[in-house]
Amino acid sequence: MTSPAPAHATAKPGPRHDLVLRGERVLLPDGFAPAEVAVADGVIAQVAPLGAGLPGARTVDLDPDEVLLPGLVDSHVHVNEPGRTDWEGFASATRAAAAGGVTTIVDMPLNSVPPTTDVAALEVKQERARAAAYVDVGFWGGAVPGNTGQLRPLHEAGVFGFKCFLIDSGVPEFGHLEPEELERDLRELAALDALMIVHAEDPRVVAGAPHPHGPRYADFLASRPAGAEAAAIATVIEAARRTGARAHILHLSDAGALPLIAAARAEGVRLTVETCPHYLTLAAEQVPDGATAFKCCPPIRDEGNRDRLWQGLAEGTIDIVVTDHSPSTVDLKALDTGDFGEAWGGVASLQLGLAAVWSEARRRGVPLADVVRWMSTGPAALVGLERKGAIAVGRHADLAVFAPEEEFVVDPTRLHHKNPITPYAGRRLNGVVRSTLLRGRAITDVPHGTLLRRGEA
Ligand SMILES: [Zn+2]
Repeated sequence: MTSPAPAHATAKPGPRHDLVLRGERVLLPDGFAPAEVAVADGVIAQVAPLGAGLPGARTVDLDPDEVLLPGLVDSHVHVNEPGRTDWEGFASATRAAAAGGVTTIVDMPLNSVPPTTDVAALEVKQERARAAAYVDVGFWGGAVPGNTGQLRPLHEAGVFGFKCFLIDSGVPEFGHLEPEELERDLRELAALDALMIVHAEDPRVVAGAPHPHGPRYADFLASRPAGAEAAAIATVIEAARRTGARAHILHLSDAGALPLIAAARAEGVRLTVETCPHYLTLAAEQVPDGATAFKCCPPIRDEGNRDRLWQGLAEGTIDIVVTDHSPSTVDLKALDTGDFGEAWGGVASLQLGLAAVWSEARRRGVPLADVVRWMSTGPAALVGLERKGAIAVGRHADLAVFAPEEEFVVDPTRLHHKNPITPYAGRRLNGVVRSTLLRGRAITDVPHGTLLRRGEA
């Protein structure tokens, strides 16, 4: 990217924008096109064909190997601050996001302490994020046993929806819902037209599976069977059907559940689905024994399953791809023993999601525009951020300058994640984010992210 000197103060008359970006490949809602994008007051003010000569106080010409994308929207990020800030914090997470082309994150209601299960806790988290965020940050609320009465106040305070677990969450302060509790909370959310996002694994199926211990990945995989996902998704579908509420399946790993999901949607059940970069790009066959950086729940399954997830994206049964960035400290990953039973379950990938998914998409002949639809436009639509997720007039000028063909090798010590551990370590990926703009401003050393509230942005 080159930035010519600012135009002279006595430049030609006419509407002069703060910034004009020009490039041969700008991703517009209809696809890539040569275009000029003018930004005023942080908003996209005009889009014109390349050569139109939109006047700007500053102009930026993309290099020939660069494309301009709408900033990614990652609706599944565990920041963990306060309480477990040594796992990840707002400053480190949002810096990593910016470096990965992500301009909006929506923070999960757990692993912070307090969890976001009432308005007071939400305010604590907002206070922490306010001064530290390099990108825009929204919040999910939590639905846990006993807090049904908190859902409406949280909704009114601007959370983007509510997360629940149907199985042990991994942290003691965030309990899971039994099916009848799920249905009761869905009834409450239906009245608010609020979204419930669900960690769908069935505890009864998992309890009947072998207990995970030791360093063999195959043993860990057997402890979280695909059937546990399918059973829990069936529970969600039935509850959504009975209540009319909107439900969203988080981090789908089991492609075997896709026909069930497709059938429910065809019947009009209000159901959406996400999967994650690690399910699309990694496979059980390649996970070395003891490599607990790969441990997450539900687990990374086999190559055939991975192919069927790509099929689910192509067919539209899976709506979006978001990271489920869920880091911990290195010691909690039990690297010394490599014991999958002991290690924290969560994959850190916020800075790498775009490159990881694009690299695999490229190998499969899937266009970059599809990847951006799954990772920006789709998540923005899911949470109702009408001014994010596209390069179009009136949208926030949240933009990523991306070099899709450039290669790099993942070095965890060079990530902005607080803890240098990721299953992508050493992988050769395509796609380098050269710069990221938030509301028209380059993201630099001064955090200028905004706190987002449902319905306001
Ligand atoms: Zn998660």
